[in-house]
Amino acid sequence: MLLQVDPEPKPQPRKIVGDPFIDTGILAIELMTEKPFDACTQEDLRLAADNLIDIYLTPAWKKELYSIFPNSTYIQSSRGYDHQGRSKKFLYGLIDGISNTSSSTTFCCYCGAPAHELMSFYKTHVPLIGSGSFTNFFPSFQNGLSICARCALAIQFAPLLWYKAGGKPCLVSSNNQNIIREFGAEVFKKIRVRLASGEYESGRNSGLFDEKFKSPQNALFHLAYKFGKEYCMKGVCRPNESVVLYRIDNYNQNPTGIRIYSLPSSVFRFVAFMMNSPDYRSAWFTLLNRHYAKAKGDEELPTWKTKYNAIHAFLLDGKSILWAFKDDKARIPTMPWVVIEWYMRSVRDMNQQRVDQIKVMSDNIALCIRESKKFNRVLDIAAARDLPSFRNQLQLLIKDWQKLGKEKPLTTFDDYTAVLLPGDYRGWTEVRDLMVIRLYEQLHDVLAKEVEPEEVTE
Ligand SMILES: [Zn+2]
Repeated sequence: MLLQVDPEPKPQPRKIVGDPFIDTGILAIELMTEKPFDACTQEDLRLAADNLIDIYLTPAWKKELYSIFPNSTYIQSSRGYDHQGRSKKFLYGLIDGISNTSSSTTFCCYCGAPAHELMSFYKTHVPLIGSGSFTNFFPSFQNGLSICARCALAIQFAPLLWYKAGGKPCLVSSNNQNIIREFGAEVFKKIRVRLASGEYESGRNSGLFDEKFKSPQNALFHLAYKFGKEYCMKGVCRPNESVVLYRIDNYNQNPTGIRIYSLPSSVFRFVAFMMNSPDYRSAWFTLLNRHYAKAKGDEELPTWKTKYNAIHAFLLDGKSILWAFKDDKARIPTMPWVVIEWYMRSVRDMNQQRVDQIKVMSDNIALCIRESKKFNRVLDIAAARDLPSFRNQLQLLIKDWQKLGKEKPLTTFDDYTAVLLPGDYRGWTEVRDLMVIRLYEQLHDVLAKEVEPEEVTE
């Protein structure tokens, strides 16, 4: 797969293997050498390897590598072990192997190129990582894997661009390579700064890029908010992006190995829409703040980095978050209707016509309630626990409407059935919640006065 080439000649990855771990490693090498991988000479790669060893042998990085490359040359604990020399020998061997594949009889499980047969690869060299079918090989990972020297070398560099969440290294991946390149360049810039400032010399610091997120879900959304705002403005993002965190635990005793947190493109589309308006953005963060778990945690870190957030969790699970868009106590919507409409269309896949039908019917109902002054109808609709009682509330409103002597019907039969039994029916509770949100918005002036439980005239 080829990437678009920018008009300005910048280092660009030419070949994408399609495995996020290898591609990230190639990107790290390109950032370090400031050259496309294919243009790197053996000398360039050796220099990059030397730099990598200098970084990996710092106390901050060594600490990270126990869970990424256990027992590797970077962190061997045997007395008198020459970490520098042995790591150099290993990496230089891979660099030599890139151009020396003539005798190979096996092929790389990542990219299909002739494998590097001078050594067998174990989790010492390649974290128990991978995607797709590769994952299934973990239990029988006995005789080493066939990997080409290029992929094996790339994997050595990949952790440089990883992210830390929940105390573990995470690979950030996306369907859009431009996002990964932009993010990788940012992370690499930080590495240079931190290296220069001597931060890696203390084992108390993280080697990996760490923004101190305890919750991987919140970390994933944090990245999506950042990409949706900054990267969209830079023109790096397209409308349908997905963001994935591969959280890695390569400790020898850990059988789980990897957990995947995936933000679908529908959610990204919604998030990017919110982040691109200053008003919606601040309203969104205010809303999130109301839904962080209250449990005691790490008091030194802000809640949004450490606590479970139901909105994030529901979005990742594909469950509706309409409940968050209304405040039943204050009887107000928590977001403007246009946001809710966008949410229904982009995340819940509801078509515009249906959204419009629900809106028109709700506006008529709002008018009916205002004129009939039966304000507790709103509460009765909100309290409907099953479809028959919800339908019953609508019937009562149709009667109210007739009593008001309106000529036009409150709703046509077609609209009524379409709203309640439509083709893309996603559960009547969503219709009820949308209606309640719209009623709160339309009737907020009168409902606000009714907040104290002084019930209204029947
Ligand atoms: Zn390969």
